[in-house]
Amino acid sequence: MEIVRSQRSRTNTPNDSVSTLPLYRYAPQLEVRLEDFEVFAMDRLRVLKGISDALARGKRPEEMENLVRDLWKANMRHPEASEDVNKDIISHFVLRLVYCRTEDLRKWFLSMETALYRYRFLLGSSEAKRALMEEFDLPCKAISRTEFENAKEKLEQVARSFDQPLPTADAIFYKVPFEEVPELVAGRRVYIHKGHAYVAMHQVVSLVVTQFRSNLSKALILTNRKWTSTIREQEKDRLTPIVEALSMSYLGPDYSQTKEFGEISIKDLDQLARSSFPLCMRHLFDKYVFRRLFTFLLSLTLCVSLYAKGVGLRMEDALAFWKAEFSHKVGAERFDKEYAYSIRHNYGKEGKRTDYTPYSCQKIISSTPGVGDHHGCPYRHFSEENLRAALGRMGVGSRAMEDVVDKVRNRHYQLACTLTFEAVHSSSCDAGINHPNQYFSDSHKILQPKVQIVGQPHSDQAEMAKFRPSNLQTCKS
Ligand code: SF4
Repeated sequence: MEIVRSQRSRTNTPNDSVSTLPLYRYAPQLEVRLEDFEVFAMDRLRVLKGISDALARGKRPEEMENLVRDLWKANMRHPEASEDVNKDIISHFVLRLVYCRTEDLRKWFLSMETALYRYRFLLGSSEAKRALMEEFDLPCKAISRTEFENAKEKLEQVARSFDQPLPTADAIFYKVPFEEVPELVAGRRVYIHKGHAYVAMHQVVSLVVTQFRSNLSKALILTNRKWTSTIREQEKDRLTPIVEALSMSYLGPDYSQTKEFGEISIKDLDQLARSSFPLCMRHLFDKYVFRRLFTFLLSLTLCVSLYAKGVGLRMEDALAFWKAEFSHKVGAERFDKEYAYSIRHNYGKEGKRTDYTPYSCQKIISSTPGVGDHHGCPYRHFSEENLRAALGRMGVGSRAMEDVVDKVRNRHYQLACTLTFEAVHSSSCDAGINHPNQYFSDSHKILQPKVQIVGQPHSDQAEMAKFRPSNLQTCKS
């Protein structure tokens, strides 16, 4: 795969694809534009992330099939249909490079790509499935009529034990060395005779997926060797920064200029922090604002003021707010000199005049707060005891709390935050939480409309109305 900066010329279409599901044996002999290199990978990551969230939520196989079809359609279609296969293959190989670099990254990528392959295979036609099995050169052979008759009784017993329809005379079964289908053997879902498993056509996905997983696992190790020995250094000014940033990429909307629900005013901040801030930002406000702690002011202004900017607080209001909070401690002059600069900087009015973007969940979760620091993601960085206490203060009930803690134990921090959102707002959040500002935005969408309907957006009555259960809706951003 050759990467070019601008124009792209397609040399040849990868020849290892069957139907629309490739084998991903070789990196494609294509020139790829740098923009496509990154954009295709981000699109595929959206699919993998959607699968990861759905699996963590315990979606059923039928639900997964529909979800994968929808995710693929929404993210992996190319404007030119003839480029769909190229986009599929390029994005896969880019992500191999991104996710080969550590054991954890390899593990995640291997699981998600294997799940994606499974459901794409299941969604394919019978012809495509048969052709793919041939391409994989799987160690299996369709059994003869006589073999089927000899094994029929046993095959019926297995089918009955899983409420499957009994095999008919024209059913296709494959004879496979039993070690090639470990998940079928472990689930006692196949008849085994003389070291061979008799695999029904609807079960061959297990065989294909085992082969795919094994190939990809080896390929990731080889890619990692190439990455560390040559590619990383060779590409240090071009691809390496993109590759290193991709595994940390935030895939949602840009919150650097959030204005979708208008600007918020200082007087609303306290109330909004209690009703609509995620636990990370609630904790910071609680620590720094409500309790008037002044250490770590810089990390506060960097993290919280970026977040506040994202929720729609104007720079002038932000300056006034932080000045009122801190100047009696540090003095107005020192505040103007040392801290106001940081806030103006966040709004792009100082320094390089970059309009900084608020931190995403991934960035916050992967940060490493020092002892006594309060930034970071509470689901990842709090002790279980502190987390339970914080969730209790947010009004999360005991049953929901157990679910949240369970997700945290399994290191699904964003899902834990999503379950908290759902418990606090009594509504589902199918998109999951990916950004503190998204949490705020989704919360605001649920709580705000009813207030506008009663026509008193800023009255105390309207504020109270936001929190009535009858005003709660569903979030599907
Ligand atoms: Fe904040 Fe994201 Fe952690 Fe939720 S998951 S607490 S929004 S960093």
